[in-house]
Amino acid sequence: MYRLKNEGYDAYLVGGCVRDLLLGREPKDFDVATNASPEQVKQAFRNCRLIGRRFRLAHVFFGREIIEVATFRGASEQVQDLQKVDEDGRLLRDNVYGTIEEDVIRRDFTVNALYYNIKDFSIVDYVGGMDDHRAGMMRLIGDPETRYREDPVRMIRLVRFAVKLGFSINPECEKPIFQLADLLANIPAARLQDEALKLFLSGYAVETFEMLRHYGLFAHLYPVAETSLSIEEQGFPKLFIAKALENTDKRIAEGKSIAPFFLISTFLWDAVKNQANINQAEGMSESVALQQAASQIISQQVKSTAFPKHMGVAMRDVWHLQSRFSSRSGTRAYRLLGHPKFRAAYDFMLLRAETGGAEPELASWWTDFQIASEAEQKKLLASLTKTAPRKRRRRRKPAVKNQQND
Ligand code: ATP
Ligand code: MG
Repeated sequence: MYRLKNEGYDAYLVGGCVRDLLLGREPKDFDVATNASPEQVKQAFRNCRLIGRRFRLAHVFFGREIIEVATFRGASEQVQDLQKVDEDGRLLRDNVYGTIEEDVIRRDFTVNALYYNIKDFSIVDYVGGMDDHRAGMMRLIGDPETRYREDPVRMIRLVRFAVKLGFSINPECEKPIFQLADLLANIPAARLQDEALKLFLSGYAVETFEMLRHYGLFAHLYPVAETSLSIEEQGFPKLFIAKALENTDKRIAEGKSIAPFFLISTFLWDAVKNQANINQAEGMSESVALQQAASQIISQQVKSTAFPKHMGVAMRDVWHLQSRFSSRSGTRAYRLLGHPKFRAAYDFMLLRAETGGAEPELASWWTDFQIASEAEQKKLLASLTKTAPRKRRRRRKPAVKNQQND
């Protein structure tokens, strides 16, 4: 900001970092707003790259940190010919520069529209953001319905911030969501995936999930999971997903790493199992039925939130490995332990065991087995043959007749 100021430009800290600093929280990242154009920002910094299509931004690198520097945007009414809106009122292109006054009213929530000015160390507030911040209230700038139509993702952002900050939601901003949730169908699946990860990986997944369901927003992010939640039997899918969310929050609180594919694999599991049963009833073998179901459910889900292929591959591994925990005869148990996705599959199986989807005995056996010494492992394997004598395996004939239906 001092570099920009010395070059004769205005520069403000803006958005989440000001909001979070005012709450005494450590900001996730720092965003800067300026009247310098992206090209002028690039000229002022050697360590700068211009990015973005929908919004053109400058990224300034400081070691491993990236500071996002955005040029003030123009206001919507004055620059209609330079903005593009679709038939639902959604902004498609929005690359017009303006003044700080115009920049303010394009932002989503009043508490996200506070500017910190380094010239006099003051906070610039055009929209009553400080009052809302003090009251702990999320409020859209301008007419809520229009602002949701412009960008339906704001409905999801509202939930994210309300939960993360512990703020209430202004009733006028809450009302239109129930009718407008469907507009999320128009949002590119890649953008929704980015937003979805922020929702569930910020340490408040349980509350976020509950609130998203309350507003009917979850169904647009994970329609496949919503279907199984609405036909829940004995609370099973609900409990399983709730446990997975709880577990995610706990890991984040403990500073442990989170693999995004893991949570999504729990969202989709019930649907995968149901589809696998259908496939099996149509004559597929158990393992083919599951493989097919995984492909079917993943391709259904990526229409809403498009996760990258490697995440799909990891999910399939975790699902597939579930059936292998019960066959523990000598070499099989060791082979499973050596699988690159063993740890994730084991965590997944623990969740199933906690919610009635797998035998608790199986879970505790694997808990012991993986940390046991070689001698203890032998004992654990021997204990199996004592309690449950291994059946002699009969060679099965290949199921030729099923394949005629393909
Ligand atoms: P976080 O702590 O999650 O980073 P943030 O408020 O910084 O929160 P960002 O997504 O980083 O959120 O966005 C930075 C700022 O850009 C926001 O504070 C807001 O002013 C503005 N903004 C972001 N997305 C939108 C949007 N969809 N519509 C309007 N303004 C937006
Ligand atoms: Mg931010």
